[in-house]
Parts: sequence; structure tokens; C-alpha cells
Amino acid sequence: MSKIIASAAIRGAHKIVERAEKKYQEALEKWGPEQEVGFPDTAYYLPVIYAILGIPVKKMSDMKPVLDRCRALLPPPVKEKTALPYLAPALDAGMATFFAEEVIEAIRYLEDPNFYTNQEDILPDNIWLGAANDVIFRKRGVEFVDGSAPGFAAIVGAAPSAEIAKKIAIELQEKNLYVFMCAEHGGKRFSEQLVEAGVQIGWPTRLVSYGPDISAAVFAMGFACRVAMAFGGIKPGDFRKNLNYNRDRTFAFVMPMGFVSDEWYANAAGAINWGFPTIADTPIPEVLPTGICTYEHVVSNIPHDHIVQKAVEVRGLKVTVASVPIPVSYGPAFEGERVRGEDIYLECGGGRTHAVELVISKRMDEVEDGKVEVIGPDVDGIQPPGQLPIAIRVEVTGRKMQEDFEPILERQIHHLINYAQGVMHIGQRDIAWIRVSKGAVAKGFKLSDLGKILHAKLHQDFGAIFDKVQVMIYTELEAVDEVLAQARAIYGKRDARIEGMTDETTDTFYSCTLCQSFAPSHVCVVSPERTGLCGAYNWMDCKAAFEINPTGPNQPIPKGDMLDPKLGQWKGTNDFVLNASRQKIAQVSLYSMMVDPMTTCGCCECIAAVLPMCNGVMTVNRDFMGMTPCGMKFTTLAGSAGGGAVTPGFLGHSKYNIAQRKWLSGDGGLLRLVWLPKVLKDELRERLQKRCEEIGIPNFIDMIADETIGTTEDEILPFLEEKKHPALTMESILG
Ligand code: SF4
Ligand code: ZN
Repeated sequence: MSKIIASAAIRGAHKIVERAEKKYQEALEKWGPEQEVGFPDTAYYLPVIYAILGIPVKKMSDMKPVLDRCRALLPPPVKEKTALPYLAPALDAGMATFFAEEVIEAIRYLEDPNFYTNQEDILPDNIWLGAANDVIFRKRGVEFVDGSAPGFAAIVGAAPSAEIAKKIAIELQEKNLYVFMCAEHGGKRFSEQLVEAGVQIGWPTRLVSYGPDISAAVFAMGFACRVAMAFGGIKPGDFRKNLNYNRDRTFAFVMPMGFVSDEWYANAAGAINWGFPTIADTPIPEVLPTGICTYEHVVSNIPHDHIVQKAVEVRGLKVTVASVPIPVSYGPAFEGERVRGEDIYLECGGGRTHAVELVISKRMDEVEDGKVEVIGPDVDGIQPPGQLPIAIRVEVTGRKMQEDFEPILERQIHHLINYAQGVMHIGQRDIAWIRVSKGAVAKGFKLSDLGKILHAKLHQDFGAIFDKVQVMIYTELEAVDEVLAQARAIYGKRDARIEGMTDETTDTFYSCTLCQSFAPSHVCVVSPERTGLCGAYNWMDCKAAFEINPTGPNQPIPKGDMLDPKLGQWKGTNDFVLNASRQKIAQVSLYSMMVDPMTTCGCCECIAAVLPMCNGVMTVNRDFMGMTPCGMKFTTLAGSAGGGAVTPGFLGHSKYNIAQRKWLSGDGGLLRLVWLPKVLKDELRERLQKRCEEIGIPNFIDMIADETIGTTEDEILPFLEEKKHPALTMESILG
């Protein structure tokens, strides 16, 4: 710990303890040792003393042993030459400070019973609320436990102006935090500034004007101690548990505004015992991690427009957004709802325009939580039925955030947007497809609401892994294409992480049942060599998703006994699919589209189909709009095979999967491939080339037909014959 802070805190503690001793002596002489003392209407006595020392201070003489403890705890003032460490003595000094302050405040109640209002609200002539009685405490304290209030900001001093005070207070309220206020700076107090700015203060608005002096800071600490005792079941005197309980559960911090006096330092040091860090607006020395608070202990010189955000970061506060603030109804009930034909106001993606979704992590200082920016036209700028390109880039940051989690968060966009009434979402990555209905727009829905949804819901569902999220939405082609390029590079990197793994090297596959809202019996079995058919979930992603959410849609599947190595069937995968498909599907091949193929849902990137004449297979990607040799366009194929059914001869799969070794290996593998759209061929060229070399036919890519050769079996067959395509001489694909 900084020597400056430690010596100031210790000096401050000495002053406060001396004051308490003096007060005690005077009070003892005046009222005698039997005089009852305490805070009003509470069963917790002087709560910090009770919680930490286990001493119920009931009468004047009970204060004596407490003050003795203060003396014992007080370290000698730091001399110029004293060596490290400073932390432990400063923490002890801080603890003594709180005991002494409770003594001081208890005596004040005796001397001036009406000094505090003793109720929830301020009075016309008195804004100081004092210690919460047990009625107020129970009502408010429970909010610290049920999650409606994550914690409190203890504001000490005053902001430079009433307006700044108001802004900070509102920002804290928006984070559902209580604001506990005390002490003055420059003749002003934060509570008084709020009143001056016309803000309603008191317990009901969570802006609690505890008292005018620094000693009122102890009411905040007492409140935290009582929460641990009352709701955490922690016994009085079990100080270690009380401190840990608060460190782990009460998201509190100290926010000194203005010059930090020795007494303030003493209080701040005391709060560190509970894991409550200090975030200051003045350039006091910083105390970075040393192991008591979750992260830093003292962070200083933070500008007022950043101080709340900084505090939230330093304390590791998880933001919860209670409801999704959009003008249409929201919930799982609307997930399966479709937006069709006449009803379409706006359409983005789905092959009609470019569309892309990306979640990336950024540095802490690059993300402003809750920011949503729409760059380009919004619904009010278009006539229905309109179309816009769209890029949704969700930027997250957090101390627990890992790159591995990006695809997991990204895949949530699909169902989270679907939950909005009148908004439909299909696909993901660069094949996303959004429709907004006329009804939704009539209610006031705008594209920025997509961002609000993502902010609120990602916090709710995945708050454990990130701290802040902002959403950028682009609807101008150039910007969309820029994000598209960025996204494709990232998808490539994500996919490559799985490259070296094989199905044989793991005993565990993963399930994905995320698509069951649209396709109730659909189950993706994801193995290292068979990525999910949407292309968004590979084995690594499923593993990470299971880590984040152990009861979610990605469950580990122990492979169990191998039943058929060629088709890729295991006892474990069959059992799992039977159960997860609600008894609809009993057997599933990971490597075949002919025998027990896996179900296909509507978000597959590609669909493969048998071409009997060519004794091979073709595949087509979603963005290819043209006719294919199986006689159907992608949309028709998706319509007939994509509802979660098993359709032998057809199979949904990801683009990436085509160049994985196990792709259709039960049916002859890559060598069966006789046709695919040219764009897809080019997109996969590098990886395909490697595979071709691996299988010993380096020029195999050139043997595969595409739409420039033909779009019917008749048209492509002569080409295949000329190239001596291996499929022509393989055993019959129809078995
Ligand atoms: Fe999961 Fe499969 Fe749906 Fe992709 S297609 S989200 S892997 S169920
Ligand atoms: Zn799906």
C-alpha cells in the first residue's frame, strides 16, 4: 500500500479514536456507566462493533472495552523511515476508525435525539436520516439479497457542482445502486447538492443522506454488516465471514469527492477490510491489486463523467437490466413467430441484402456499457416493404471475457432478437436474416431497439462472463461490407482453432439444441470433425458454452461404444439424440447423408443432395440463389429438408464442414462431391486444396463442376466424365 495513504489513514484513525475517547469520557461523566446507548429501534446494537467484535453495546460502560480494542488496533503513526508493509496496519486503523465512529454517533443520539430524522424520508428542516432502524433495514436490506440492489456507493464530500452531483447520482440509480452520503467538502455536501438540483432524496429514491459528518460513513458499513447477519446468517463476532460475505456479495465502493482528509483516508482504509474499494476524483496515490478487494483497492483522479463507470469496473459490479426497454412485447413466447409477405416492413439479409453479425471483445476503455449506435438509415427512413443491408457488431469487455466466448455470445443474437414481438431472425454470422413487421414499426420499434435488446439480455444471461457491452448497427453498404470483411477474417480464425483435432481424440462430443424453438426435434451433434450445421458452433464453442452455462443447450455427450465406424454411430450419441429429440430419432450417423442422417434445421449454411445419375453429391450454400443440379434452389431445399426432419439423401451442413475429413465419409467423403457453386468453391479453395493433396488427387477441385459448367445432371455429367471424376467409378451411392 502507498505509504502516503497508509500514514494518512493511520493519522486519521488516531484523530477519530481520540475524539471518541474524549466524547466517551464526557458522556460517562454526564450520564454514568448504566446509561442506555445505541442506535434507534434496532436489534443489532452498534452494528459494526456487534458484527466484528461480537460485543452488544447496550450501555455506556459497554463502550469501554470497545475503545480499548481501538487502542490495541491502532498502529503507531508511520514515521519517515518505517519500512513496508503498510497494508495490514492501515486496515487495522480503518477498523478502529469504524468502532470509534459508532461510539461517536451513538453518543450523538444521546446528546441530540432529534439530530437525525429516524425515518425513510427527509423533513423540511432536516435532511439527515441517520442509522436505518430495523423496519427500514429489513425492507431495504432484502434488496441487497434478492438482487434488486447490487450494492451501494458511499459518497463522501461533494461534487464540484450541484449539476454534476445530480448526474452522478442518476447514473448510480440507473445501476440500481444505493447512494449513501456523508461528509462535506468546500462547505458543500453531496446530499445538499442533490436537494439544490431538485432531486428527491431519501430511502425511497435510494439516495440516502446519512449525515453531515464523515463519522456518518459508519452507518453505511453498519448497514452492510447487518445484511450479512440478517440475510447471510452470519453470527455476530464472526468477522471473517462477515467481511467475506460483503466482499463477495455487496457491490459497494467508496467515492470520495474532493480533498481527501486524514479522516477520509481512515474510513476508506476501513472499507477495504470489506473488499470495498475507493474510487476518487482527486489525484491521491493509487493502490492497485494486493488481494483484498476483487480488483484494485484505490483508483484515483477519475473525471466525473467516467467515475460511475470506473467504479462499476473496479468493484466488478454486474449490471442487470430488469426489463428489455423496447416498445414491443418481449419474451420466449414470440420466438417462433414469423413475419411474412404483406406484413414485412423491413428486411435485412436473407440473401436479399448483405447482413452480418459479430461479437468481439475489446479493451475496457473502448466499451461504454449500454451504448447503441445506428449508423445509416433506420426504419423511419424507408418505405415498406423496404430492404437495408445490416451489420450488427456487439462489442463486449470484461475481466472474465475470453475470445473463446465470442462465438457463444454471437449465437445468442438469433434467439434474443427473435424474442421481440414482430421481429423475426434466422441464421447467424454472415447469413443472418432479419424481418421487422409493420406492426412492430407502428408501435415505435427502431433498429436501435435491436441493440437495446442485446444489451439487456446479454447482461441478464451472460453477465457472469463480461462486464460491459455496446452495440454498433450499420445500415450503409460500405460500412456493412467493412464489418463483413472483418467478421469473415474472425470466423476463419475461429474455425481454424478446431483444425488440428479429430473425432478419435476425444471421448466427448457436444449437443446443440438451440434451434429447437423452430425445429422441435432437431439436435445437432457437434464433434471436432463435424461442426454445427449453422457454421456458428464448432466443438470448441460448444465446450465453452457448456462451461458458461452448464444447463444450457450445449451438453457434453459421452460417445460411448462405437457402433458403426463408417457411418459414425455411437451408443452415447444415439441415446442422447433419442432423448433430446423427444423420442423422435433413435439413430444418427455423424458421417452419412444416406443412412440415418442428422436432422437439418432452417439455419444450415449449406444443403447437400444426392445426384443419382452422377453417382455423387452436390451441395449449395444459402447465398447461392440459382438453380442447382438436383432440380431445386437452396430455398426449396431448405423448405423440404430444413424443418428438423430426417431426410435421407439430403443433409444440412456448414461450409467449413466440407473440407473436414469426416464430411460424408460414410458415403465416400469429399470424392463424392461433383457440383458446388463457384463462390463456395473459391471461398473454400485453400482448405479444399489441402484436402485434395491429402487424398492424393491434387487437381480434384478442377474435377468438381459448378454453375458455369451446368445446373442439371445432364449438363454436368459429360464434364465429370471428361475429368474422370472418381465418383463415377465408386460403388453406387444409393447402396
Ligand atoms: Fe446449434 Fe445446430 Fe442450431 Fe447451430 S444449427 S445453433 S449447432 S442447433
Ligand atoms: Zn437452426
